[in-house]
Amino acid sequence: MSFDSFCLHDSLIANIKRAGYETPTPIQAEAVPHVMEGRDLMGLAQTGTGKTAAFLLPILHRLLTTPARTRSPRTLILAPTRELAEQIFRSTLDFMRGTRLRATVIYGGVGMFPQVRALRQGVDVIVACPGRLLDHLNQGNVRFDGLETLVLDEADHMFDMGFLPDIKRILAALPAKRQTLLFSATMPPAISGLAGETLTDPVTVRIGHLAPLSTVEHAIYPVSHNQKAPLLLHLLGEAGKESVIVFTRTKHRAKNLAQQLCRSGHKATCLQGNLSQRQRQIAMDGFRRGSFQILVATDIAARGIDVSQVAHVVNFDIPDTAEAYTHRIGRTGRAERDGQAHTFVTGEDMGMVRAIESHMKKPLPRRSVEGFEPEPGEFRRSAPAPRSAARPRQGYGAPRQGGYGDRQRQGDRPYGDRPYGDRPRGPRPEGARADSVRDDRPRSDRPRSDRPAADRPRSDRPRTERQPADDRRSTFGLGSADNRSGNQRPRRAYNDGASAA
Ligand code: AMP
Repeated sequence: MSFDSFCLHDSLIANIKRAGYETPTPIQAEAVPHVMEGRDLMGLAQTGTGKTAAFLLPILHRLLTTPARTRSPRTLILAPTRELAEQIFRSTLDFMRGTRLRATVIYGGVGMFPQVRALRQGVDVIVACPGRLLDHLNQGNVRFDGLETLVLDEADHMFDMGFLPDIKRILAALPAKRQTLLFSATMPPAISGLAGETLTDPVTVRIGHLAPLSTVEHAIYPVSHNQKAPLLLHLLGEAGKESVIVFTRTKHRAKNLAQQLCRSGHKATCLQGNLSQRQRQIAMDGFRRGSFQILVATDIAARGIDVSQVAHVVNFDIPDTAEAYTHRIGRTGRAERDGQAHTFVTGEDMGMVRAIESHMKKPLPRRSVEGFEPEPGEFRRSAPAPRSAARPRQGYGAPRQGGYGDRQRQGDRPYGDRPYGDRPRGPRPEGARADSVRDDRPRSDRPRSDRPAADRPRSDRPRTERQPADDRRSTFGLGSADNRSGNQRPRRAYNDGASAA
């Protein structure tokens, strides 16, 4: 199949060629004809599948081939994070090249005025994060009377970030008669509810399930906490000049680790929620261009961000959920390129390793590097119970359990986990924690209704729970784990020609 078979506008065909795309990816082959017909669409696809072009190409084709009825924007694309919005905006500009179409991007953390000016000048396409767009709507800076197409990208991530109330307010300001395309990697009940409310007679396009890309090679490195940084430096030494994303659990660790890598002579930068929008942009641009070889990031960067040619993803800290693992490693092995995913695990992470393996329906190869083996007994001490796929998601990016949109249940939650507005007035109850509000998003990215948003404190998370004594096992003797995965590996296996297939 070729792009010619879609009969797209000549400018789009030229821009597709310029982008170097030869054949449509499966989601493009399936979705483009339906979107061109004007159908609503539910796209169940993970990132890295080419879903951005799957919705942009038919939308831009319509904009180029049918006249505008009003001066209002004709397409609105909502995305959960600034980085993803910026990325979709860049693709939009690339595909619009040589046409008279106009687009703008709207997100928080930067000045309102340039955005107001762009909106007043008139645009065909707006790519936006929900919070700032709602500000503009409330201030009357934009109207959507002539809107033809709405795209909700990474809807599950928007829900995870608590944006659902903002999205519903935005939906109320849009014409009921429109085309809606909803993309989501997973289908939790809230997203099927949203799909039921917003889509009319949709076609569903499902590209694979949320499984890691087949071009990614995985490795689990058992290691002691204090050996993680030296092991990372060792692996980076072997990675040569290839681009690497390193994921940490906390903002502080991302910052400190990036500084440590710089001190060791690496070109590293970090991307985490404490940075200003400008700093985030400098980090992303520098990493994309190759001025930084290493990006140390929290999960804020885990989804949607497309940096081609990321050769290695290192989970310096194991992610909080099996799904987050697939999102993180989705940064590598994109668009048919090979990638490697390295995950550092300590004894207490073994429950999550098992949850990831069960999610992926295969064991992950264990590797060890000489000189960085964990202390004997470390993996016998604390193996938490395996989590089922239905394990509640925790931490940044997790849906609020009994969550923020669910006020009536706030009373069930620990005091420190409730939004301030939902805490009883008066003194804090004895024993309640004052310091348990943690949110990786900058304030302006948080949904208005829920500021400040809270994550559970790490100490409240069930992953540190111990197994009942009779269920405790020594799960991670390296030899037995390697046998279990069917991968007997030499001890120095990283990047030395003996890597896992
Ligand atoms: P996405 O899933 O939209 O984030 O796209 C992932 C990556 O695939 C991006 O770098 C795109 O430029 C690239 N891509 C999208 N469609 C194609 C295609 N038909 N051929 C080659 N690369 C593509």
